[in-house]
Amino acid sequence: MRIVVKFGGSSLANAERIRKAAGRIAALYEGGHQVVAVVSAQGDTTDEMIANVEQIHTDPPRREMDAYLSAGEQMSAALMAMALQNMGLPAVSLTGLQAGLMTDGVYGDARVLGLKGDRIQKEMDAGKIVVMAGFQGVNGKNDITTLGRGGSDTTAVALAAFLQAKECKIYTDVDGVYDKDPRKYADAVKLPWVGYEQMLQMARQGAQVLHDRCVELAQMYRVKVQVLSSFREGEGTWITALPEDFSQI
Ligand code: ADP
Ligand code: ASP
Ligand code: MG
Repeated sequence: MRIVVKFGGSSLANAERIRKAAGRIAALYEGGHQVVAVVSAQGDTTDEMIANVEQIHTDPPRREMDAYLSAGEQMSAALMAMALQNMGLPAVSLTGLQAGLMTDGVYGDARVLGLKGDRIQKEMDAGKIVVMAGFQGVNGKNDITTLGRGGSDTTAVALAAFLQAKECKIYTDVDGVYDKDPRKYADAVKLPWVGYEQMLQMARQGAQVLHDRCVELAQMYRVKVQVLSSFREGEGTWITALPEDFSQI
């Protein structure tokens, strides 16, 4: 069974957390799954990179900004592939360009259009765990584009859709989707299931837990999405069309 997992920045913030995430990937792989792991830049890397740029250019050219910011995810992907290899597992990191993730030409807020070529498929057929740099693709000129802040969620769901994965697990720093931000409201209630439409509304209203375009793609391609904690065990929240659609792995 094919599965896509995604780890956000705080889930990869240091070596210990990368090893923990690698352990989750390893467990799925050893359980017989073909695994694509999408990774974000570590911790606050993207914010720090933006601050660096502000010291260099007051109105940064968008093409170069994307070339620069995409490097955060590329570093994470290579580090994760190394962590997996250090555990004795076959893993390969891929950038958006290497994987052929095609987007439109809107630098800084590009939309995913499709997956060109079969590089990911070939690596999986060779028995490898594919570690994919999130947040990035390429336009028709093969120039790097980024998908908007929080866009690694969208990379993960897009790959799940294009590779016809059974589901997409989004590992993050909260243990699921709540009715409101659990970091701001002590009385927030965790939801075991959220329909695509409701999740889309929440994401569009700014619930950072999922990028809104990732929910659009999930709804369009009927990808079953599970949001769960990378730090604690638990079922988290399922986002599907109907409550009876979700399954245990
Ligand atoms: P990641 O780095 O894993 O992508 P994000 O910071 O982008 O994680 O998203 C997770 C954060 O989303 C949580 O820490 C939480 O504060 C915030 N959040 C906002 N609204 C919600 C909600 N309704 N349910 C859960 N988390 C939410
Ligand atoms: N690193 C990017 C950001 O901070 C993308 C992501 O984390 O999803 O927005
Ligand atoms: Mg995020």
